Amino acid sequence: MTALPLVFDAPRRGMPPRHLADLTAAERAEAVVALGEKPFRAKQLSHHYFARLTADPERMTDIPAASRARLAQELMPPLLTEVRALDCDGGSTRKTLWRAHDGTLLESVLMRYPDRATLCISSQAGCGMACPFCATGQGGLERNLSTAEIVDQVRSAAAVMRDGLMPGPDGTPTPGRLSNIVFMGMGEPLANYRRVVAAVRRITEPAPEGLGIAQRSVTVSTVGLAPAIRRLADERMQVRLAVSLHTPDDELRDTLVPVNNRWPVAEVLAAARYYADVSGRRVSIEYALIRDMNDQPWRADLLARLLREHLGHLVHVNVIPLNPTPGSKWDASPKPVEREFVRRVNAGGVACTVRDTRGQEIAAACGQLAAEA
Ligand code: SF4
Repeated sequence: MTALPLVFDAPRRGMPPRHLADLTAAERAEAVVALGEKPFRAKQLSHHYFARLTADPERMTDIPAASRARLAQELMPPLLTEVRALDCDGGSTRKTLWRAHDGTLLESVLMRYPDRATLCISSQAGCGMACPFCATGQGGLERNLSTAEIVDQVRSAAAVMRDGLMPGPDGTPTPGRLSNIVFMGMGEPLANYRRVVAAVRRITEPAPEGLGIAQRSVTVSTVGLAPAIRRLADERMQVRLAVSLHTPDDELRDTLVPVNNRWPVAEVLAAARYYADVSGRRVSIEYALIRDMNDQPWRADLLARLLREHLGHLVHVNVIPLNPTPGSKWDASPKPVEREFVRRVNAGGVACTVRDTRGQEIAAACGQLAAEA
């Protein structure tokens, strides 16, 4: 077994200056007072950013111009600039490429469904986990995103939905509400633990302290950093945990998900059980189905057995047909193989469905985010 040089905390070089969304409500009040302003200015700023969804200080006209300039400079530095947005699926999927203050590129993907709108956000620029089938993993980790850089992806998408800039179910752009957040964009969220947890709190606190999205509608997805899963459980939040397992056996998983060399399947599933017990929520197991790699009937049977043993009924398997990435030799399993895999997992007593994949044609689907300018 090889110990992998895993990069869990990237150098701080390149991190953006402090922003309102990095701070708790109490810290915002302190910061405002330290700038010589009245504490209630913190509430005003929060109202503009988290409730009115504006990051443009010029629009905060209830704050006197002199104070506004000072507060904007110190607490609302520009974070993310849109480089381009690509639409597909009739306009109901939009991938946005963002440039951070230091030139770092990152992506988020907004998907509108008849009954909800989901934003897939990035927690790091690049990723250090090196999963060989994933476009993001091929470039390595550039840096962690700050809490505010994570939150600002959500604020922008919430504004797009509120302003009716995305087509609704009937194809016409109508106002809607951003309802769900998944940390399934670029990066391993639990490798940027502190900032991601702070971002979840900011995203889920009621407005104007935060963006007011229900904790139960937020999913944190991990490749299986077992100690961090347990730590997340101890935060006592109601977020859903998704574990990218991709195969039930250590032999193949050591290759498919290299972090498995550090925390093997049994340890990951034990941590997932702890999370399910503490949160009372079912854990999602993500399984990218790859032709002739992890799609054999015996793997379906083993998966069902292990999940039953470790998680009982507190689990649901999402099978994801592998999305093609440029230059990759790996491909999705044929449909009959996929159907048989799903059938066997269900027959083994574990709920299993195929996840609808959106955004393939604009390289916005799972494992395709590479943030190319
Ligand atoms: S699959 Fe997820 S954890 Fe693995 S390299 Fe890609 S982004 Fe990182």
